[in-house]
Amino acid sequence: MQPFDLEKHLRTHIQSLKPYASARHEYAGVEGIFLDANENPFGSTETAAYMRYPDPYQQTLKARLSVLKGIDAAHIFLGNGSDEVIDLLMRLFCEPQADRILIMPPTYGMYAVNAAIHRIGVLEVPLSESYALRPEKVLKSATPNTKICFICSPNNPTGNALDVAHILEIVENFEGIVVLDEAYIDFSGEASFVGVLEKYPNLVVLQTFSKAWGLAGLRLGMAFASTQIIGYLNKIKAPYNLGRATQEIALKNLANQAQKEIFVQKICKLRESLSRALQKIPLVEKVYPSDANFLLVKITDADRVYRTLVERKVIVRNQTNVPFCGGCLRISVGTPAENAQLLDELAGLQSS
Ligand SMILES: *Cc1c(COP(=O)(O)O)cnc(C)c1O
Repeated sequence: MQPFDLEKHLRTHIQSLKPYASARHEYAGVEGIFLDANENPFGSTETAAYMRYPDPYQQTLKARLSVLKGIDAAHIFLGNGSDEVIDLLMRLFCEPQADRILIMPPTYGMYAVNAAIHRIGVLEVPLSESYALRPEKVLKSATPNTKICFICSPNNPTGNALDVAHILEIVENFEGIVVLDEAYIDFSGEASFVGVLEKYPNLVVLQTFSKAWGLAGLRLGMAFASTQIIGYLNKIKAPYNLGRATQEIALKNLANQAQKEIFVQKICKLRESLSRALQKIPLVEKVYPSDANFLLVKITDADRVYRTLVERKVIVRNQTNVPFCGGCLRISVGTPAENAQLLDELAGLQSS
């Protein structure tokens, strides 16, 4: 890899920006009479547990994650869902109305939406017909103002894990930041890129508590990157971006990783049985291979099937208007009973 000069890629005003210094930042001790943050000294109506501002850098939680992921805590940033991290990364690297991000549709919708919010351009280099990465096309299309390349693997909504050699080709040759979104990595056989982060100073790996950990309602996303990138994320984040409750609940769940693994095994098995069962239904034209906890399914008259399923209170994601996903529904793997009901409803529908 070429030597990587992060400052060259940052928006210039971020480098000299003076961040907000919070009360808990200026004095981080745990003992004393705290008259520095304008909190209510009596506590809340329910409990005294949340009367104080939380640790702005979530040190206890990061220490635990550091052991779990085998990476120093200084390489970890935590956000209010991955969505917050995606937003912060664009704020760090992309100048509105001048810079662009590169995405490979069909992929996760938030990259383009977030870019639109900031008036950042979006360069689209579609995946191949079989939803594979095309590194040569990606590298050829990128221009100097293409600041971030988003790769999602396993990809949403297609479900497939992308070729590791293809991902590496982009990470090693893209002249900007590469964000690898591993929201579904637990459900795939692939190793996380967190293990090789050391080698790639331009790489940011995203993971989340929303999928395998079963904590979508908590709003907790993880980013792994160089200490330099993490430092800049910390510089621009809201001072207390994660609540005390979020940090506590995450720690409690992390204590039982074995149970998470059991859920993941179960979901992967159910994914395969659901896929086989779907393929036997006449309306179903194709079930795409999945390394995630959902299936992309091509269905005859998908719009009508979608509406009928909703009427029967079975809610799936309609992808029929998503470019490159024509005629498809995205179906999350449910419990055995939920999957059975979905299959029942589908089997009962006649193609017209
Ligand atoms: C679900 C999902 C996420 C998770 O987002 P959170 O904000 O952490 O809930 C991130 N990326 C992709 C591709 C996803 O599908």
